[in-house]
Amino acid sequence: MSKVLVIGAGGVGSVAVHKMAMNAPIFSEIALASRTKAKCDAIAESVLARTGQTITTHAIDADDVPATVALIRQLEPKLVVNLALPYQDLHIMDACLEVGVNYMDTANYEPREEAKFEYKWQWAYHDRFKEAGLMALLGSGFDPGVTSVFATWLKKHKLDTIRTLDILDCNGGDHGQPFATNFNPEINIREVTAPARHWSAGKWVETPAMAIKQEFAFEGVGPKNMYLMYHEELESLSKHLPEIERIRFWMTFGDAYIQHLTVLQNVGMTRIDPVMYEGREIVPLQFLKAVLPEPSSLGATTKGKTNIGDIATGFKDSEERTFYIYQICDHEEAYAETGNQAVSYTTGVPAMIGAALMLTGVWSGEGVFNIEQLDPDPYMDMLNSQGLPWQVKELGGPLGF
Ligand code: NDP
Repeated sequence: MSKVLVIGAGGVGSVAVHKMAMNAPIFSEIALASRTKAKCDAIAESVLARTGQTITTHAIDADDVPATVALIRQLEPKLVVNLALPYQDLHIMDACLEVGVNYMDTANYEPREEAKFEYKWQWAYHDRFKEAGLMALLGSGFDPGVTSVFATWLKKHKLDTIRTLDILDCNGGDHGQPFATNFNPEINIREVTAPARHWSAGKWVETPAMAIKQEFAFEGVGPKNMYLMYHEELESLSKHLPEIERIRFWMTFGDAYIQHLTVLQNVGMTRIDPVMYEGREIVPLQFLKAVLPEPSSLGATTKGKTNIGDIATGFKDSEERTFYIYQICDHEEAYAETGNQAVSYTTGVPAMIGAALMLTGVWSGEGVFNIEQLDPDPYMDMLNSQGLPWQVKELGGPLGF
């Protein structure tokens, strides 16, 4: 019996739980817990209607460690999958350690008051997980997640060493709203407004947010402007694949998104420090989140595709070669399958796959692991069979920028 507890009932949690229910032989029992139980119940109803599987639902504030410990003790899962927000990571890891159960997530821990995107807090748990004989797997979403697995697969099968790696994240979807974010607005805007950083010749190079842009023609989407950004997998990839001389992360944004964000930033609405309003403290970005559309509400109207992948240049038998590996996901097809758009789908499916590989023991270990430390092959096979088929092609040479 492989029981899993998923914490977090947003778009990503919803997709993951639907896909787990579609893989009932691996996930024999599924429990879903979140702060708002009504959201878990709505997901459970959809799962029952779409798959015929019943899941249990529970209310939990995962920042309350003793309450989370009690819930884990009551449910006795083999694995806790954290699909709440990055602020909860350490609290859920603490609870897992106390009970003695494995842990997995899709986003690194963030302190609320500062946008950091650093792994140091979670890496500091390595010895405790190791001593307890437990495994924590960090970042099993799409990016981080699949993009790191793509890099290790290229290294295993196509290149002897990787010299440069570019991660290209394109969302060509249109949700019909003047301004909305495709996943949690607070986390998304923190990410986008942070200074850009990339890894080059053994050190970080910092440039202002959204200052470096390139046009790129994405298969299935067309030409799009993409912007150099910092993204958390750059830190773990530069640690675990130290041979890579340069690692960059690019994300596409439309002109309307940039215009709205620029205004919001200029007027102070993206600030994450508290300000006084009518005698009480409010955080402008949290207030902004409250007035923006819920990402999960965008699914029904979103059309178009995502295309996310890696371009790696390196050497094979002393010859320089460049490969592009990518996955195209259709928003409407994702919505038809699970009731969620492609950004949630491309994160929730890899979350299910990481959990499946841990539960079946295909991936095992003691300590805290990033996904690129594990064998990419079983993960790549499941991407193909679970709704995220990928393609790889050789390019004529390295990127010209
Ligand atoms: P949502 O905001 O849609 O959902 C988050 C869920 O977590 C909500 O159900 C929320 O409950 C719940 N939650 C928040 N705080 C707590 C708490 N203290 N205790 C219990 N539950 C809580 O986010 P998404 O589904 O879009 O994203 C989920 C995670 O996936 C995030 O960490 C995000 O950063 C990550 N992500 C990773 C990606 C990747 O490729 N690696 C891509 C996209 C997202 P309530 O509704 O009550 O607030």
